[in-house]
Amino acid sequence: MWIWNLTLPPSSGRMKRHRARQNYTTAESNTKAASMFTWLDCHFFVMTFACLLFVGAQIVGVNCHFDPETCVKTVKMMKAGVEKAGLSAHYMTQPLAYHTPDCNCQGFIDLPEFPFSLEPRILTRWDMQKYAREAYNAGIHYIGGCCGFEPYHTRALAEELAPERGFLPAGSAKHGNWGSGLEMHTKPWVRARARRDYWEKLKPASGRPFCPSMSKPDGWGVTKGHADLMQQKEATSQEQLKALFAKANQSQ
Ligand SMILES: [Zn+2]
Repeated sequence: MWIWNLTLPPSSGRMKRHRARQNYTTAESNTKAASMFTWLDCHFFVMTFACLLFVGAQIVGVNCHFDPETCVKTVKMMKAGVEKAGLSAHYMTQPLAYHTPDCNCQGFIDLPEFPFSLEPRILTRWDMQKYAREAYNAGIHYIGGCCGFEPYHTRALAEELAPERGFLPAGSAKHGNWGSGLEMHTKPWVRARARRDYWEKLKPASGRPFCPSMSKPDGWGVTKGHADLMQQKEATSQEQLKALFAKANQSQ
């Protein structure tokens, strides 16, 4: 299996890690299979996918930077393009476990909360089940996750697709599906939540009265290839930091 990730700028450290991962995955499997992308330029994607399929890729898809809803929608568009080109493939998604409806084209890296205050955006296990079902119904059968995913999220994906897979994941032994373990809760109103219907319809509150539901992404106008995004070898100097802080204050 080999993996491409086109979000990586060609900095030496990242390229080394990227090559190490390629080598590792190549050693693990002879299957020329997976190509992962994080840009949401569908025209670019469709063309690139067509090239990759032409040279033997068997699985194409997207990972990281955006939430499941965006990633599934993107792969649906790409699948339509690939089919229009008379090609076929297996499809994959590995989105964030964060809601990102307010992101611009670069995804969550531009959000003010990136990377250390993203927790309020995290998907629930029920959101994950919804994602798994929507992805599967869209013809995406390699369904996973990237940044923000916790074990219970992955378990939720496997549980949603248990009918198709024919078995539950091992982690299901630790809890009851759709909150059924709450049947024994001491509080009757919590016992009343031991059902799928309750959790599927719930609109969870954030509990943060002064917080907006959406943020305004930073817009510094630099993207892949820009000199500002080149990783330097030496530590960032105090002068460089001062200039960055001043620029950040201006853009707020
Ligand atoms: Zn990621």
